[in-house]
Amino acid sequence: MSNKKRNWKPQTALVHGGTLRSGFGETSEAMYLTQGYVYQTAQAAEARFKGEEPGFIYSRYANPTVDMFEKRMCALEGAEDARATASGMAAVTAALLCSVKAGDHIVAARALFGSCRWVVETLAPRYGIEATLDDGTDIANWEKAVRPNTKLFFLESPTNPTLEVVDIAAVAALANSIGARLIVDNVFATPLQQKPLQLGAHIVVYSATKHIDGQGRCLGGVILSDKKWIDENLHDYFRHTGPSLSPFNAWTLLKGLETLPLRVRQQTESAGKIADFLAEQPQIARVIYPGRADHPQAAIVKKQMSGGSTLICLDVKGGKQAAFALQNALDIVLISNNLGDAKSLITHPATTTHKNLSDEARAELGIGPGTLRLSVGLEDTDDLLEDIAQALKAAK
Ligand SMILES: *Cc1c(COP(=O)(O)O)cnc(C)c1O
Repeated sequence: MSNKKRNWKPQTALVHGGTLRSGFGETSEAMYLTQGYVYQTAQAAEARFKGEEPGFIYSRYANPTVDMFEKRMCALEGAEDARATASGMAAVTAALLCSVKAGDHIVAARALFGSCRWVVETLAPRYGIEATLDDGTDIANWEKAVRPNTKLFFLESPTNPTLEVVDIAAVAALANSIGARLIVDNVFATPLQQKPLQLGAHIVVYSATKHIDGQGRCLGGVILSDKKWIDENLHDYFRHTGPSLSPFNAWTLLKGLETLPLRVRQQTESAGKIADFLAEQPQIARVIYPGRADHPQAAIVKKQMSGGSTLICLDVKGGKQAAFALQNALDIVLISNNLGDAKSLITHPATTTHKNLSDEARAELGIGPGTLRLSVGLEDTDDLLEDIAQALKAAK
């Protein structure tokens, strides 16, 4: 089968997209665990380095297995080009830092994954890159934050852990009007349920650690954009700073992509049912779930997302003590700060993922002492509902 660009639907692209078959004709993608590549002649090496002959040079730059993963992600996202990275944070950091220089200004939604917030709020200013963070759900805040030197917008939607939703098309339009670029961290939505590039975003980043692997095995990340931005901004930064993905992990992620639609569909379906169940429980003060009519930005969810979420945010009445009791009483659902996994995982953000924020900053994000984030896995929905019901009873 040739690898011509075709009008494949996601499920087909995720099984066949990007496949580079060797002379042995293997069905499964080959794992090229090599650092370097040999050339037939000195002239061939020269031509390869000059870019006159296609081929690989060094695995910090590119590697056949990593290349398959990048191409398959491009097919899914509808992006022209991509670079795979060793982790989601390597993707976020590279995408941000290759876009700005000292004297530039970044505007970001303040509801960000903890490490992303640190990069924008703490690391970037050390290099003379100023940042303004505000509530991203109100477009007026983005407009207010813009300065003459604003070069970059950054947001995550839905956000971690309170599943706030930002109007990507509105922020992208504002970015375009001032000649800035918008980076969207699309981890929580997955590439299947939200298409930031189609909504006008310029760059999309993922932690492939989450749903893309989805089976708790390895870290990874990916940056997707148009070819021009990658050539002009990311290409040299990436080659010379070395956030490259290991071919072994790229292979694992390729296998993850084959089953991504099945997993995300099942996990989202279960999550919807669990969210509805939780919303009716007297011990639960609040359930936030994109896909429920009572989500604070339900109209935007409807406009820009094609599915709900595999994650649920809930507030247990009785604060930290009640939230801990519920976590401890769960049998199938495991206590872990990871997400997007085959196994259902629950975490208490105030004491784990968001413990480094001040009480005030946590309150701004809607993270209270009773807030829990539930990542719904692939277990049978009825077993999960039963587990949560028995845990609520035991924790009473
Ligand atoms: C996990 C995560 C990251 C970081 O990814 P790693 O693979 O852990 O480095 C960034 N953004 C979001 C929204 C995440 O959930």
